[in-house]
Order: sequence, then C-alpha cells, then structure tokens
Amino acid sequence: MSDKQISELLARNNKPLLSFEFFPPKDDAAMAALRQNGEALRATKPDFVTCTYGAGGTTRQRTMEVCQLLRDLGYAPVMPHLTCVGHSRNELEALAREWHQAGYLNIMALRGDPPRGFSQFRPSPDGFTHAAELVDLLKIQYPDLCCGVAGYPETHPEAVSPEADIRHLKTKLDAGASFVTTQLFFDNEFYYDYVRRCRKAGIEHPILPGLLPVLSLKQVQRMCSICKVVLPAELEKQLEAAGDDHAAAAQVGIRWAAGQIKDLLKKGVPGIHLYILNRAEAALSDELAQLFASR
Ligand SMILES: Cc1cc2nc3c(=O)[nH]c(=O)nc-3n(C[C@H](O)[C@H](O)[C@H](O)COP(=O)(O)OP(=O)(O)OC[C@H]3O[C@@H](n4cnc5c(N)ncnc54)[C@H](O)[C@@H]3O)c2cc1C
Repeated sequence: MSDKQISELLARNNKPLLSFEFFPPKDDAAMAALRQNGEALRATKPDFVTCTYGAGGTTRQRTMEVCQLLRDLGYAPVMPHLTCVGHSRNELEALAREWHQAGYLNIMALRGDPPRGFSQFRPSPDGFTHAAELVDLLKIQYPDLCCGVAGYPETHPEAVSPEADIRHLKTKLDAGASFVTTQLFFDNEFYYDYVRRCRKAGIEHPILPGLLPVLSLKQVQRMCSICKVVLPAELEKQLEAAGDDHAAAAQVGIRWAAGQIKDLLKKGVPGIHLYILNRAEAALSDELAQLFASR
C-alpha cells in the first residue's frame, strides 16, 4: 500500500486540509492511550496525520510503530518525521529506503534540535548540518517522495536574522520540498506577516499553520520557552484565571485555538495542522469539530 503525496492533496485546492501531529510515546501504557485517542479522532476525518521523530533512543523505533498503528486505524496518508540528529548519511539513506519500500511517500524532513545540554547543533560524522541537505538526499534518492519542511513565523531561535531564516527556508524548498508546516504560534499576525515575507522572498509553496490547543498554563509556558514563541498576555491571563481547574484551562485553550482557526480559515489558509500531543479532547470538542466540518 502506497500513500498519496500530500502535495497532490494540496494541489487539489478544493478545501483547506486538516492534519494532526502525534508523537512516539515512551511506554506501552501511553501507546495504548494513543491507540484509543487515535480511534476516537477518526471521526474528525483529517486529510493526513504525522508522527514526530525523537531525539534518540527507543522512541525512534516507535515512530514507525506509531505510523503503522495510524495506518491500521485507517489514516492515510501517514507522514513520518525524520531528523538528521545522530545519523550518518548512510543511515538516513537506509531509513528512507525502508520507509519508501513500506509505501510512505511523504516525509517531514528536519534537522532536529541540539541534544539536551548543548546550545549548538553538531552534525554526526558524515551527517548533515541543515535540513536542506536531507531534503536533497531524499528527493535525489526518491523523486516521488513528497517532503514537508519546518517554518518559523517568529524566526528560528538560531537564525542570524529573520531574512536569513527565510532564505534558508527557500533553500529547503528549492531542494524539492513541497510544503511548509509552521512552528506553533498563538497570535495569527505572526503567521500572516511570515507568509507575506515568504511570498516577497519568492516562496510560493503552501504554508500550513501549526496550532497547539493549550491544556494548561504550565504546559504552554514550557512549550513557549522551548519553542521561543510569544505567549499572548490575554491567553496567559485567561489561563491564570482558570487556576487549578484543568477542565476550565483546557476550555480556554480550545476557545483560543477555535478563534485562531476561524480567522485563518476566513483568510483562506491551505490547511490547519494541529499539534494534538496524542490527545483527543480538543480536536473532538464541539467548537473545533464544527470548524473542521465547515471547511
Ligand atoms: C512542523 C515541525 C515539526 C517538527 N518535528 C520535529 C521532530 O519530529 N523531531 C525533532 O527532533 N524536532 C522536530 N521539530 C523541531 C526542529 O527539529 C527544530 O526546530 C530544529 O532546531 C530545526 O530544524 P529545521 O528542520 O527547521 O532546521 P533547518 O532548516 O536546518 O534550520 C535550522 C537553523 O539553521 C539555519 N540554517 C539553515 N540552513 C542554513 C545554512 N545553509 N547556513 C546557515 N544557517 C542555516 C536556519 O535559519 C535555522 O536557524 C519540528 C519543528 C516543526 C516546526
């Protein structure tokens, strides 16, 4: 069984795509929870789903396990992520071969973050320094592979300037990537401004906005600190007001995401990518389900 290329789905352009991002769980109990949530989320009929690639260790094997599980649940296309961290060129080639043979025709091609405790990315011996090199390898090895790449509306933390960051994004697309999925953001103005700057730089590819339905103040503060993105004061205030009431905080997150999605759909985005963190409640909420159905 081979997946359809996401580039083909985007080219149809008849409605904005909906996609969900999962991550490989650390243990069997979390894997069982993912299966349960994966089953429930089928009701929302996403156009594609993805699974991230861990920084190392057992979660890497689990990326393939999760992708297979998502396939077994009936999702298609299923897009594994792949990073350059800790891999030589030969290893990346071997992984691409394995996935391509298994019919995965979409890969999210990433550099990956520096390992914990290191501020700078160091390539493996005979490995890659930038995601563009991975896109290059994948597209030369398998021209029928559709590659997605990451974009940063608030600029990647290591970039020397916003302009340089967009230039590097263009290099990934010029190497053959088909679309961009953005880092999460909570203020749509960052996304609109980013798309404007990308278009000005000659980037015409679809740019899918990545959104996180927030669950708690602690979680969003952690995510914003890791991803170096702005937490709007109003969202922070509403989450503070929810206090220790988890349900109330999740409701704030759903309402905020719904407001973002409504506005993005009105402005004609090519899709909505949700960082669902293996949870189902936000995507299944009435607010978001209605918006998905109205696409
Ligand atoms: C949608 C999405 C999905 C993600 N999935 C994962 C995942 O599954 N696993 C994971 O570990 N991480 C994931 N990440 C995080 C990502 O790996 C990090 O943000 C990482 O720090 C950068 O990866 P990249 O692919 O954007 O790198 P690159 O595109 O290589 O960019 C990294 C930095 O280098 C700069 N740069 C690029 N090319 C050059 C050049 N030629 N010369 C000088 N500077 C250059 C860029 O401006 C940027 O600052 C994801 C991020 C996003 C937005």
